[in-house]
Amino acid sequence: MFWKRKTKKWPKVDSCSEVQHFIDQMCLDYKVPPIHVIVKSKKWMDWFTDLGTRACAFRFPEDDQRIEFSRFIAFDGEACRISGKDRNVPIKVKHRHQAATRVHIIIHEFIHHYFFHQGMMDEGHGKNFRRMETKINAEYGIYFFYKSNNYATWFHDFWGFPFGRRPPTPEDRGWGKR
Ligand SMILES: [Zn+2]
Repeated sequence: MFWKRKTKKWPKVDSCSEVQHFIDQMCLDYKVPPIHVIVKSKKWMDWFTDLGTRACAFRFPEDDQRIEFSRFIAFDGEACRISGKDRNVPIKVKHRHQAATRVHIIIHEFIHHYFFHQGMMDEGHGKNFRRMETKINAEYGIYFFYKSNNYATWFHDFWGFPFGRRPPTPEDRGWGKR
């Protein structure tokens, strides 16, 4: 008998509505109001945010405090491998490490939403941010190191093995049987 670590299955997050569902569930679990998920082009992200940003959580319009109407998370659909429309076939994700990173990015943006709602500082991904990020990722068996700018990098499993370049299995990407 091998001791097997019990982790949550990676969510099925190929489309905007599936990412919305995953984030809705975290909003319930962590008792914060829901937030709108939108999928945009790289061009839009570059225009709206800093160059090279793959995702961001924001409030719009800035001065509108009605949280239920004004909070969004935008994903660069191409970079994050998320389709704007629902799909019957999986979106192309070549490598298993991309599937792990995608789960991580969604969790990361949820934490920005959580911190905003709690009135906590998330600038620069400080200690509390990183603690929560590490905890939620670990529930999915995803671990990583932090770069000097406090962005997670070098994703690996509990045993320290990288997720690798082989294609993700249906289960890795949430298409497996439940
Ligand atoms: Zn961030």
